[in-house]
Amino acid sequence: MTANAEVALPPELHPYDHLLRSADLPTIWCPGCGIGTAVGALIYGFEQAGVPKEKRVIVGGIGCSSRIVFYAKTDAYHTTHGRTIPFATGLKLCNPSLNVVAFAGDGDLFAIGGNHFIHAARRNMDILVVCINNFNYGMTGGQGGPTTPAGALSTTTPYGNPEFPFNLPNLAWATGATYVARWTTLDVRRLRNTFADVVNRHGFRFVEILTPCPVSFGKTNKIGSGVEEMEYYQALEVLKSRVESTEITKTDIELGKPIVVGTFVDRERETFRERYVRVVAKARGSKS
Ligand code: SF4
Repeated sequence: MTANAEVALPPELHPYDHLLRSADLPTIWCPGCGIGTAVGALIYGFEQAGVPKEKRVIVGGIGCSSRIVFYAKTDAYHTTHGRTIPFATGLKLCNPSLNVVAFAGDGDLFAIGGNHFIHAARRNMDILVVCINNFNYGMTGGQGGPTTPAGALSTTTPYGNPEFPFNLPNLAWATGATYVARWTTLDVRRLRNTFADVVNRHGFRFVEILTPCPVSFGKTNKIGSGVEEMEYYQALEVLKSRVESTEITKTDIELGKPIVVGTFVDRERETFRERYVRVVAKARGSKS
């Protein structure tokens, strides 16, 4: 056998076994939860893009999705609620050679962490932000949050959510993100290809993943099991790649209405670090 020949894995092992902390499996995720699909897609993206293992860093917050930091065999940080983006920002600024991904839920990123999101996008911080959007706080009992659709039921909106939710792609675009995509966990191949495409890019990149939470959102809103929530997506998904910026406001999510998915934004902007280095060099040059 040559040094480069592929070694056949024992049949009981998952092809990504060497990229997972197998001793910590099975996961805590409920049957039918979509987070594992998103984790698998991100790991695939790292592999396909050829990101060296020692350069991969995943920053998780608090909540079900944050468990990625225990299962993916990479350098990883389990941070405090809402603070994935500040931690990711610090890591990237201290060591620009790292490939940093902030991976968190909708409540974490857009309620307590909302301010961090808009300012990191405005600065064009060089990180990839992945939002697991299951429309509620799954781990803590299914409370409503900033992406809960208007009228949707949750444990804190038993008469239907009276608030309007954030449209996350619209928010990311408006605040300066250079890349914005939305997929559901039904779109496994597109999701994997998206990660393979964007993990090595620069600038503030945002991927929203609509993810079944059958034990909370799915159950409360009578959508049903994880599979039934996937069928819900299948029935409502409308693929519109490269939505014009003027159209991005039309990607709102409403209960029972079409869900627009696709790559919505792909543009170039000088990153925070590039700009910082240039500004400092100019200032120093002018003084010498
Ligand atoms: S509570 Fe919801 S999001 Fe959390 S693991 Fe269970 S299904 Fe997934």
